[in-house]
Amino acid sequence: MPLLKSWVESANNATTEFPLNNLPYGVFSIGDTPPRCGIAIGDFILDTAAIENAGLLTGLPPLLCQQPSWNALMSTGAATWALFRTSITNLLTEGAASRADVEPHLYPLSDAIMHMPFVVAEFTDFYAGRHHATNVGTMFRGAENALPPNWLHIPIGYNGRASSVVVSGSDIQRPWGQLKSPDQTKPAFMPSRRFDLELEMGAIVGQASTGPVSVDQAQSMIFGFVLLNDWSARDIQAWEYQPLGPFQAKATATTISPWIVSAIALEQFRVPLPARETPLLPYLDSPNDAIYNVDLDVTLAPVGKAPTTIAQTNYREMYYSAAQQLAHHSSSGCPMRTGDLLGSGTISGPEKNQRGSLLELSWGGKEPLTLDTGETRTFLEDGDTLTLSGRAQGDGFTIGFGECSGTLTPALSNPQNTSN
Ligand code: MN
Repeated sequence: MPLLKSWVESANNATTEFPLNNLPYGVFSIGDTPPRCGIAIGDFILDTAAIENAGLLTGLPPLLCQQPSWNALMSTGAATWALFRTSITNLLTEGAASRADVEPHLYPLSDAIMHMPFVVAEFTDFYAGRHHATNVGTMFRGAENALPPNWLHIPIGYNGRASSVVVSGSDIQRPWGQLKSPDQTKPAFMPSRRFDLELEMGAIVGQASTGPVSVDQAQSMIFGFVLLNDWSARDIQAWEYQPLGPFQAKATATTISPWIVSAIALEQFRVPLPARETPLLPYLDSPNDAIYNVDLDVTLAPVGKAPTTIAQTNYREMYYSAAQQLAHHSSSGCPMRTGDLLGSGTISGPEKNQRGSLLELSWGGKEPLTLDTGETRTFLEDGDTLTLSGRAQGDGFTIGFGECSGTLTPALSNPQNTSN
């Protein structure tokens, strides 16, 4: 599909992340006005709460845009998502008769403060990138036993914390934790010294389920995708993770991009999953399953300095799709809810500059990375700003997610005195 032309001129520029082909969902405010639902188009945000109030959305259920989150629309299911998108597309298409009614509800993106685009019901994070799992496994267990024996059969995951998911632009405070580094003889409670990022995509469940769902059903339940940085304290993790997996190491924060790019917008970027090394059990297998071709990169900017690109990879490097993860998640009968967020797992490619974490990029801290500023990094320093971005390249247009950014602030001087 070529570029769809809009009467919003900036949406037709080859450089925009938000052409008419995208129409991502966000929640924004301008000045002191309350947060409300909006859709990005070129350099603007369409106030969809106002558009709905003005009666410009026809043939749709009422009250889809009146909360400061997209959960109401998300809960309706794929048929209504498509109708809603068509309705917005018609309003913004070049030559649309309704332009005069719609135009007053556009606000410059540069004036907007972005908020969480949806209410996160629960957060589950996976370990589904083969290159990442192989790299980490090699560091900890040696190349021979890099992949755990279950890895090629199960999308391995753990239940994270919805409460710690924040929108891009939120500061991240270096955590304290109980940790025991290789150079320590006994555990200590201290600020993490190996604080890291994980480059991931987040899949967002729209339609809820009450029992096991197939991969095909799972695919139709996914409303859209965000960029996701799963901040990770490696030293806390190394000490705490056996036998039940990560806990406090992953509980500080997870940052997502402000825009949800819909599954419909990404449809034309579907590509086959990597070849299966060993056949999957039937409940995880579907000929209709796919992954998405989305270029991803990460920059690191020391405080007051220019950013350096530290990793470039692609979402298609994942071994398991979001639909497989969702099908597996529900296989026990676990109900899935509107607003459930599934982290893909760290996305690393086969090359060194394609690794989606500092753990891998610095090979466990043994091979410091040199930034363009001349500084080196093994793990994150206070003041570092991490920014994830993602782009799907269409025929004459680009679909983006906006920046997924966060700055690391120093650890508290005494975390025991902060109870409130
Ligand atoms: Mn993760």
